[in-house]
Amino acid sequence: MNDLIIVGGGPAGVAGGVYAARKRLKTLLVAEEIGGQSVVSEGIENWIGATKLSGGELAKSFEAQLEALAGAPGSTLELALGERAAKLERAASGFRLATQSGKTFDTHAVLIASGAGRRKLEVPGAEQFENKGLTYCASCDGPLFAGMDVAVVGGGNAGFETALQLLAYCKSVTLIHRHKEFKADPVTVEKAKAHANMHLLPNAEPVEVVGEQFVTGLKYKERDSKEVQLLPVAGIFVEAGVVPNTDFAKDLLALDAVGRIAVDAKSQRASVEGVWAAGDATDELYHQNNIAAGDGVKALEDIYLWLKKR
Ligand SMILES: Cc1cc2nc3c(=O)[nH]c(=O)nc-3n(C[C@H](O)[C@H](O)[C@H](O)COP(=O)(O)OP(=O)(O)OC[C@H]3O[C@@H](n4cnc5c(N)ncnc54)[C@H](O)[C@@H]3O)c2cc1C
Repeated sequence: MNDLIIVGGGPAGVAGGVYAARKRLKTLLVAEEIGGQSVVSEGIENWIGATKLSGGELAKSFEAQLEALAGAPGSTLELALGERAAKLERAASGFRLATQSGKTFDTHAVLIASGAGRRKLEVPGAEQFENKGLTYCASCDGPLFAGMDVAVVGGGNAGFETALQLLAYCKSVTLIHRHKEFKADPVTVEKAKAHANMHLLPNAEPVEVVGEQFVTGLKYKERDSKEVQLLPVAGIFVEAGVVPNTDFAKDLLALDAVGRIAVDAKSQRASVEGVWAAGDATDELYHQNNIAAGDGVKALEDIYLWLKKR
């Protein structure tokens, strides 16, 4: 029987794991992989304490710290990496977590730090051309489009970061955003605008991905005029937001309309006693690595006191 199971290996889960180990709670950290969403980022410049590091470097530092703590003499932290949480339910004296590989683990308390994944583009042709010109990972696939015209869907930080990466080697980058104002930080928008081969299409929405064997274009609608235009591109990079990874807990906890776990912001407690949640899986307003890590720490302070009072 564990004191605590943490689900997730992004900044929220890793911070929770570090604090749990130092508080000597018998803890199992279950994660598909260590690092979290920004693992694909070329440069993270706002992780406190590091001027600049890549997402890969951040992930390595997380893994090294967890492994050092789990491997230390008398450690109470155990790692179950490569495991995907499939179902969380109540059990005799706490909760039972079942994983997709068929394992089950019991615990008194749970911290859900399973973050979020990419929102899919839901227009005709998007599914058909996924990985045939339409992609959700610029760092993975971007270089395949060197010298070509490409589009980025989404005007938040992830959209502009993607555009900046692609501008280094693509012939042109056109960023489409459904609103008039971009959601990205102004400094990032200005950086992208400074490139001669960067084009912005605000107030427009994609309506169809077209192609033959591979993508040849993106049809979009200008939202004011309602006119549909064709943008000839060989690549489409979708950065249209995220969906929380909370399916495994949906029968146990109160979620908001988009599936995020409702938490008390002071303590990170979820709607069921004994369950906490941290980071992008929750209904908090801001999504950042430092915030997710802070949430994980806050949750552990509360979990520790709760376990000791039981
Ligand atoms: C491209 C990109 C760049 C970004 N750049 C920055 C930046 O520069 N600075 C910044 O502060 N923020 C940045 N962000 C935002 C930041 O990455 C997130 O806010 C942060 O990662 C949230 O952390 P988290 O721990 O809550 O969840 P996540 O990072 O989403 O981590 C979730 C973890 O849970 C695991 N997991 C998911 N489902 C399951 C399951 N069912 N079972 C087991 N494990 C599971 C995953 O493998 C992962 O380890 C960026 C985001 C993106 C997409």
